[in-house]
This record gives sequence, C-alpha cells and structure tokens, in this order.
Amino acid sequence: IELLTTPADAAEVRIEEQIRPARMEDFTGQQRLTDNLKVFISAARMREEALDHVLLSGPPGLGKTTLAHIIAAEMGSSIRATSGPLLDKAGNLAGLLTGLKRGDVLFIDEIHRMPPAVEEYLYSAMEDFRIDIMIDSGPSARAVQLKIEPFTLVGATTRSGLLTSPLRARFGINSRFDYYSPDLLEGIVMRASGILSIGIDQDAASEIAGRSRGTPRIANRLLRRARDFAQVEKAAVISRRIAMKTLECLDIDEEGLDDMDKKIMDTIVNRFSGGPVGVASLAVSVGEEQDTIEEVYEPYLIQAGYLSRTPRGRVATRQALLRFSDGSVSRHTG
Ligand code: ADP
Repeated sequence: IELLTTPADAAEVRIEEQIRPARMEDFTGQQRLTDNLKVFISAARMREEALDHVLLSGPPGLGKTTLAHIIAAEMGSSIRATSGPLLDKAGNLAGLLTGLKRGDVLFIDEIHRMPPAVEEYLYSAMEDFRIDIMIDSGPSARAVQLKIEPFTLVGATTRSGLLTSPLRARFGINSRFDYYSPDLLEGIVMRASGILSIGIDQDAASEIAGRSRGTPRIANRLLRRARDFAQVEKAAVISRRIAMKTLECLDIDEEGLDDMDKKIMDTIVNRFSGGPVGVASLAVSVGEEQDTIEEVYEPYLIQAGYLSRTPRGRVATRQALLRFSDGSVSRHTG
C-alpha cells in the first residue's frame, strides 16, 4: 500500500470533515502555536479588527486546513477556501477577494504553488486592502483601484522555503507545525473512533498511534483500515491483535515506515553507497515525484534520524547504514 498523506478520494474528504476538530479546545497538540494564536485572536476581537495574516507551514496531514477553519470559527467569521494551483488567473483571485466580508478568512492551501502574476495581486490586497485591476485593452486600457474589506489571509504550505520573500514578509503571524507525539496521536485516534462509533481498545490505539509517522491524517486512516479488519472478523471492538494484523497487512513497520520510505533508504544506502545523492536522481531511481519526496518522505526520514540534507545532496546517517545496508557496499559514515 502506498503512503498517501493527502486525502485519497472524495469519501476520505467527507470522513475528514466529519472528524475534523471544529474549535480550538478540540485541537490537540501544536501547543505553543495554538497558545499564541489564541492571544492574537482575542486581541484582534477586542479591537474589532481582522486578524493579521497567518502563514501555516509543515508537512501534509498535520492539521493546517483544520486550524484555518478553527481560526475563522474563533474569529466568528466565514472562510473561503482555495489553493495556489487553482488560482491560475488573477481574475479568479480578484473575484474571491471582492466577495469577502469584513473580517472573513481567505484560506489558500499550497500557497507556494500560486503563479507569480497572481501573487503580485495579493501584495496590495494583503497590505492595503485594495486591488489594481486593468480594464479594457489596447489604447483605452486603464488601471482601476478596487477597495476590498479588511480580511485575514491564511496561507498553508508544505514548503515554506519556496515562498518568495515579498509574500513571506506580508504575513504577520508565522506558524510552523511539528510532528505529533505518539501520546497525542493516541488521543486523536480515541477521539476519532468515538465520532465514527468504532470501539477500540487503548493498546490498539497506542499501536496505531506509534506507527502513524507523527501525522493525524495517517493515524485516522489506519484507524479506518483497522475498522475494516474488525468488521470482516465480526469483532465489535478493534483489539490490539486486530490493530497489529492491520499494520502487518499494510506492511507498516514499528516506526511507521512504509514501502516507499524503505525504497528511498535502500536506494541511498545501497545503490548510492550512502550518498550524497541529488534529489532528482533519487526521484528517478525510486520512481516517485521529486516534490513528493521532498514534501512527504524526507521530512519524516530526517526526523526519524535516517537522512540528512547537505549542500551536496542527501546523505544516509550512520543509523541508516546500520539498518538498511544489504552488505553490498562497504560502510562509510554519513
Ligand atoms: P493539512 O491541511 O495539514 O494537510 P488537515 O488539516 O487536512 O491537514 O488534517 C488532516 C486530518 O487530520 C483532519 O481530518 C483532522 O481530522 C486530523 N487532524 C489534524 N490535526 C488534528 C489535531 N490537532 N487534532 C485532531 N485531529 C487532527
């Protein structure tokens, strides 16, 4: 089974909406980030102003979209959601911006994928709440200024490093998401099972949590697969045995590494002698998109202590050489 950190299909999106925490008090983890946000939100509310623009960055599935909705709910505002690649024309953005009411949230997912021409429109909108649009063409072309209501842009990105500096500078609040601890994920699994009306033993939830690569979306997905196994066994509750069987059948190891993680590590360690190897060659070797490797797989492999990024390329750590070497190359330290 392929590791998917983005929603797999429409059915999964519906389930995610069902179990997505709606208020700040139901959102577990990311403590410092949410504590700060609560202060900024109540201060903005006291001043009856729109909240400053917020940039949320971090790997997929950690709760950026969820938090964007919570911010709007806590501000008592509406949210309009779009994503960078969908904003292919400046006109689309202008349409969204002019439709916003005072204090509304505009959520742009994958904001680093917004075309540069569209991004430039956003600058004056974020800074002065106005947009300059060209009407007519040829000799009669002229620029018209449109006022828009004060709003909050919430941008989400898996690659904050790819954001241009003018865009980054326009966010007053910059929040980085971290991977969740197994304890927090266990709580998230227990909560989701309650909402989905699935019985689960605590030690089963704990197994699932420990192998979810610190990611709520993966924890919730493994929970649903365990529910499938329980269902065909006609078991009323997901026991630890059923959870273990599920994880085994999905080929997920004790650390939550899946086939692609292992393939990436095997390639660096054994085909490239531990590295350094450029991410483009790595992508070709393992047959995965370079973006996916950089956004999904690498951050976790780095945090797990198997991989490091160097100016010359990706290098396997000593720990990775010990674990993934098939003996075909002589070891050297990374
Ligand atoms: P992202 O936008 O970062 O890719 P999402 O906000 O879509 O991630 O979160 C994916 C799923 O994970 C959501 O459906 C939600 O149920 C769950 N989730 C994320 N963060 C939390 C959290 N802090 N507490 C509980 N569930 C969470």
